[in-house]
Amino acid sequence: MIKENLETVKKNIAAACEKAGRDPGEVTLIAVSKTKPVEMLKEAYDAGVRDFGENRVQELVEKYDQMPGDVRWHLIGHLQTNKVKYIVDKVCMIHSVDSLKLAKEISSQAVKHNVTVDILLEVNVAEEETKFGTSSEGAVELAKEVSKLPGINIRGLMTVAPYVVDPEENRQVFVALSKLAVDITPFLRDNHNVVLSMGMSNDYQVAVTEGATCVRVGTGIFGERDYGKI
Ligand SMILES: *Cc1c(COP(=O)(O)O)cnc(C)c1O
Repeated sequence: MIKENLETVKKNIAAACEKAGRDPGEVTLIAVSKTKPVEMLKEAYDAGVRDFGENRVQELVEKYDQMPGDVRWHLIGHLQTNKVKYIVDKVCMIHSVDSLKLAKEISSQAVKHNVTVDILLEVNVAEEETKFGTSSEGAVELAKEVSKLPGINIRGLMTVAPYVVDPEENRQVFVALSKLAVDITPFLRDNHNVVLSMGMSNDYQVAVTEGATCVRVGTGIFGERDYGKI
């Protein structure tokens, strides 16, 4: 099932790229495996997936130990400062940096572990009260401050769009994030390859047509999540 789902998602990404005149090679598919057992991650791995997304530090660390070493782990959920130390040398990217306090802790742990950590600033574009993320206005100032810290490398922006029935409703959110990315480029070391992490199972095709370079797909690959089990 996972293999077939992956093929469908990849086909949909390719179709969205075609529509937008983009090269599918610009889009990284992150398989969001939160709540799913390692056997399912291995199945995805065998089908070629190397980018996995997890929300919780403990779950990421547990799965990290059980999966092959060439997996690229993306921390996509809210991160508490006291947990940074457990993952700073394990993740390929932290998508959810939304405060200077958190960025400072990542920086100091990165220096301690002698690594550089790629991060994205999470922006609450739709200004939903229930969501994490800096405001759009705050993102540029945050980028400016974070860019001064050692051991931390801002690669771009991430957003979690609202839950909507019609994915077209989120197009404006993706357009807004993509515009905001232009404003933060002066604070990026690599300002030619700005990362835009946007789009989930429900709306990744729309996100790709608006410039997403990372889509985070869980349900569309692994099926519905059962939160009752954890
Ligand atoms: C769970 C989650 C996803 C994946 O959601 P699906 O709708 O299952 O694709 C993507 N991004 C974040 C931040 C998530 O927490």
